[in-house]
Amino acid sequence: MTDHPIIDKEALRLKYREERDKRLRPDGNDQYLRLTGRFAHYLDDPYTPLTERPPKSDHVTVAVIGGGFAGLVTGARLKEAGVGNVRVVEKGGDFGGTWYWNRYPGAQCDTASYVYMPLLEETGHMPTEKYAHAPEILDHCRRIGEHFGLYDNALLHTEVTNLEWDESRSRWRISTNRGDHFTAQFVTMGIGPLHVPKLPGIPGIQTFRGHAFHTSRWDYAYTGGDPSGAPLDRLAGKRVAVIGTGATAVQCVPHLAPACKALYVFQRTPSSVDVRDNRPTDPQWFAQVATPGWQRRWLENFTANQTGALADEDLVMDGWTDLARRVRSRIQALPPEERTTENMLAAFEDSDFEKMEEIRARVDAVVTDKETAGKLKAWYRQLCKRPCFHDEYLQAFNLPGTHLVDTDGKGVERITEKGVVAAGREYDVDCVIYASGFEVGTDYTRRAGYEVTGRDGVRLSDHWAEGMRTLHGIHAHGFPNVFLVQPTQGANLISNIPHNLTEAGRTIAIIVRHALDHGYGEIEVTKEAEDAWIELLLSGGGGILGSPDCTPGYYNNEGQDLGLRSWLNAGYPHGATAYFGYIDRWRTSGTFEGLEFRNGA
Ligand code: NDP
Repeated sequence: MTDHPIIDKEALRLKYREERDKRLRPDGNDQYLRLTGRFAHYLDDPYTPLTERPPKSDHVTVAVIGGGFAGLVTGARLKEAGVGNVRVVEKGGDFGGTWYWNRYPGAQCDTASYVYMPLLEETGHMPTEKYAHAPEILDHCRRIGEHFGLYDNALLHTEVTNLEWDESRSRWRISTNRGDHFTAQFVTMGIGPLHVPKLPGIPGIQTFRGHAFHTSRWDYAYTGGDPSGAPLDRLAGKRVAVIGTGATAVQCVPHLAPACKALYVFQRTPSSVDVRDNRPTDPQWFAQVATPGWQRRWLENFTANQTGALADEDLVMDGWTDLARRVRSRIQALPPEERTTENMLAAFEDSDFEKMEEIRARVDAVVTDKETAGKLKAWYRQLCKRPCFHDEYLQAFNLPGTHLVDTDGKGVERITEKGVVAAGREYDVDCVIYASGFEVGTDYTRRAGYEVTGRDGVRLSDHWAEGMRTLHGIHAHGFPNVFLVQPTQGANLISNIPHNLTEAGRTIAIIVRHALDHGYGEIEVTKEAEDAWIELLLSGGGGILGSPDCTPGYYNNEGQDLGLRSWLNAGYPHGATAYFGYIDRWRTSGTFEGLEFRNGA
């Protein structure tokens, strides 16, 4: 049996509670602002010039809203299934979604490329690194678009403004900000969970006289450098503030630190930063791996390992699977009769304490200044907030020009004309970079930017007024022929979002193919099936990802308990691996239980 270090669990529980309580605030998601005023430039696309085109007024078989991973994999699966006349509508000037907009220095995937980058096998691409950098991922999005002919009919630089079901013709009417008014028999919505940038509602934010931008619209003209990692040479002599220490800051701080005269990193809550251990892909190794069906095997293996399902081996072997490996080995060490829910939860907590103690010890081992090291330690369970992995972030605080400004959970107090105020002290800076994240907990239609009006004029925002209601996270009753492409109420696998999306895309393509083959004009989930699915999800105890015991963040709706609305942000109660097995049986059974296929108007 493995020897585990002795940990004072009660002391840690108390510390975690104290740190959470410090950060709880009544305004929850309302503490954040949209990017307006001096930040409104985010609405412009700095990467691709807008080209004029005549508005569309035609009809397509499938309109795919969103050209990020969700739209690309759905479009690809539809094309594979022989569905023609697919039109992707994308607000960016090219495909890529989050990878189109986020080009900050150091951006890379946090989940291993072999499972994170979709459709590698179909497109024949070998990721160059275990954790690929953003330019390669953006290129891969374009590769998918080209490989599956998704550019042919696409409307780029186009935002949907309204979606309305036309009962008399069994089709959707789609309006856009480019004057398009076209129709589609089917619509898929892959609007992405992290695409509306937000700013902290810090008083004075519009008054700063220096330069300021959000990380999702990195201003290389100001900083120098480029997305492939060239040094940020225009920052020499500049004092720069970074506000936020989430996954984005963890990746860009190592690039800022050596470039600025002084870098002030304003921290409200430290991230847990585990080992990254990136390395180039060895082509010989990859050739052995990439035998037919390889990516699906890797996906299934990663998901099984990451979620604690039994698996013989761990192909990815990284920080995402580490915690589950520890939990599993503890449970396996128990005699079968002792594998009770209580003991399993205890195994989970013990493994988490052990893991987080190691992550905190790593801070001490890396950061030379003891006071700074103390402040960089995360006091919560690893999955309370998005885990981070990096081998240069903590090291950046050893550079003489890098200063951690810890706010002890309170956040920045004020922005002035000259700089940033925290803990009563004003820091004069030339530039403020907001690494403050994206809207997550706000209403779906607010984030989508358009309303969806279904049968009998019912709006999706009303249908979901008490929380999200779907079958499989894909179908909503009253909204025929529309399919959501996202993780919630499906597998809800947060460690590898693309796996949720590729599976949803496959499911949707099979359903659409079935409808076309049999001449059905309408597909709709029945109310009974939707209700039964919701009941099943809730039987698992619901699923706010981070529990209310966690320190606030977007994983737990900023620590606010929204009752049923929060509980409905759930996944399949038997876990992601079980869900993928279930959905594969469901979609290949030919009966599509819960869906009603009608001839339509
Ligand atoms: P996050 O929402 O994770 O982080 C925002 C940061 O801003 C937090 O540290 C937050 O503190 C801080 N903040 C908010 N308000 C204040 C304030 N008033 N004063 C000081 N600090 C403040 O955004 P990110 O862009 O870092 O990441 C968002 C998500 O995007 C990630 O969780 C991940 O899912 C995804 N992502 C994925 C990457 C990948 O796969 N490679 C890379 C980057 C991002 P607090 O924690 O206290 O709220």
